[in-house]
Amino acid sequence: MRKSFILLFLALLTTRVNAQKLERVEPMFWWVGMYNPKLQLLVHGTEIAALEAEINYPGVKLAEIHKVENPNYLFLDLEISAEAKAGKFPIVFNKNGKKKLQYVYELKNKEQSSSRIQGVTSKDLIYLLMPDRFANGDKSNDVIKGMRETKLNRDSMYYRHGGDLQGLIGKLDYLKDLGITTIWMTPEIENDMPLASYHGYAATDHYKIDPRYGTLELYKTYVNKAHEKGLKVIKDVVHNHMGTGHWFYNDMPMKDWVNQWPTYTQTSYRDEPVMDPHASETDKKKMLDGWFVPSMPDFNQKNPYVQNYITQNHIWWIEYAGIDGLRLDTYPYNEPEYMRDWAKKLKAEFPTLSIFGETLVNSVAAQAFFTGGSTVRPGFDTELPGITDAVIKNAIYEALNGKSGWTDGIFRLYTTIAQDFLYKDADQNVVFLDNHDMSRFYSMVGEDLNKFKTGMSILLTMRGIPQIYYGTEILMKNFSNPDGLVRSDFPGGWEGDKTDKFTKDGRTVQENEAWNHISILANYRKESIALQTGKLMQFVPEDGLYTYFRYTEVGKKDVMIVVNTEDKVKELDTSRFEQRLSKFTSATNVLTKEKLGSIKTISVPAKTTLVLELN
Ligand code: CA
Repeated sequence: MRKSFILLFLALLTTRVNAQKLERVEPMFWWVGMYNPKLQLLVHGTEIAALEAEINYPGVKLAEIHKVENPNYLFLDLEISAEAKAGKFPIVFNKNGKKKLQYVYELKNKEQSSSRIQGVTSKDLIYLLMPDRFANGDKSNDVIKGMRETKLNRDSMYYRHGGDLQGLIGKLDYLKDLGITTIWMTPEIENDMPLASYHGYAATDHYKIDPRYGTLELYKTYVNKAHEKGLKVIKDVVHNHMGTGHWFYNDMPMKDWVNQWPTYTQTSYRDEPVMDPHASETDKKKMLDGWFVPSMPDFNQKNPYVQNYITQNHIWWIEYAGIDGLRLDTYPYNEPEYMRDWAKKLKAEFPTLSIFGETLVNSVAAQAFFTGGSTVRPGFDTELPGITDAVIKNAIYEALNGKSGWTDGIFRLYTTIAQDFLYKDADQNVVFLDNHDMSRFYSMVGEDLNKFKTGMSILLTMRGIPQIYYGTEILMKNFSNPDGLVRSDFPGGWEGDKTDKFTKDGRTVQENEAWNHISILANYRKESIALQTGKLMQFVPEDGLYTYFRYTEVGKKDVMIVVNTEDKVKELDTSRFEQRLSKFTSATNVLTKEKLGSIKTISVPAKTTLVLELN
């Protein structure tokens, strides 16, 4: 009697300890009519693997249930047939045939609107910003109770500053006036890390907008409002790593969810072993599987559950919000085969989506190596359309700051563009002069406004998709060591700021000169077929002048660009440009509106770049 009582008591106790609890199902909802009928649900909950999952819904088959190392997970493979209708249904979790838990799953209809998933092309101009540092539109979300970072401190570059989605929504017209067509912000998903979480590259929840920026609904509102104003949206996604504060890092489905090493091993940050035919496996493994930093564990992208999780997460965001393009963080650090399969799946699901990868590498060949269909990687197609073209950026800097030589100064830019033969389509490269990881352009040209304008003129007339970094248009400056220095708040984005540089009156004369220079070219670019999609023809630089054309077969409104980086006025005899000039007799200076009645010789002022529309 007594013994059985104790046993009963123990049994009750065990039941209590083992009581199953459902924490989350991800993706939390999905759609009917997707290209890929398969969906793998991650189910997380205490001892959930002890239960049997069951689904009864027409057109939806629970094809397989996977139990993994950690009993707090189940992975459910669903097959959603073409006949399945949108609707809600329970996923039931049974024990010995008795219902213990359930999750109401929803399959939605896909939204049909032509302004969704438009793609970002060479017709566009991208504006990169950091949401924490751009504009604070909602003070009530500056500090969120229960999050690991407990205070706001605008005096420190490492703390949160309070910028948010509402702030950005309030500045859409500002961006439109500047001539921007596309917004790329650094990641806006939750980064609940104890310090320096503002940059967004240490995700702690893949399906949540950081509450300090707003909500899922507000993110969708932001995308819709941008689309209403004719602006497109790029989402910045990170395949390679997460933050140590991630909910699943602290209760991983299996040990190899992340790349494990006997002792902490950091990536070498050297991309060469990935492409070097002479590289060792050791070096390659260190580059690909080493962790980015101790607080950012490296996903094991050979693990099929990890692959599904990341791929579906990106598909979910695009379909949920109607995003136009993706920027892929730290591209060379990812498993190449996985990234190729990922790109195929994304393009199959969203043929109009644009994709470009961050490749901070040192040569055209190395950049081309990562692009789809390139000439330099026989037998392997990355399926990646575009990359961030850091080599062109370096060449423009060399043109502005270097001394002319056979391959130096302006010739560096010329020879770099000449190597476009290595790409399948160099027009999909994102061209830029600075970003959140680099010293600001204005500082890099020694705060020389002429050099600044020349750089901007080249950027906005070059092949590819131009991108500018927030604040560059108002001559924000600084060097990137530490990187927080180039991530300052945009003056005027916060209530009580001393100046408001979003307005003409808040900017200095010089800042307005820079702003207007960008705005005139950017708005001209919006109407110029030659600059948007025209071909590029460049001529060997002579006498310190570098001349290139953007042209169409129509032979109307072609654009001629003449770069003079030297300190003296030059007279340009245009007879050697006959191939491009034969149809034209006059020109208009796009920036000054000045008419050139004859273009037989053109006077090019010192340290100036002429952008001429040919008539
Ligand atoms: Ca705020």
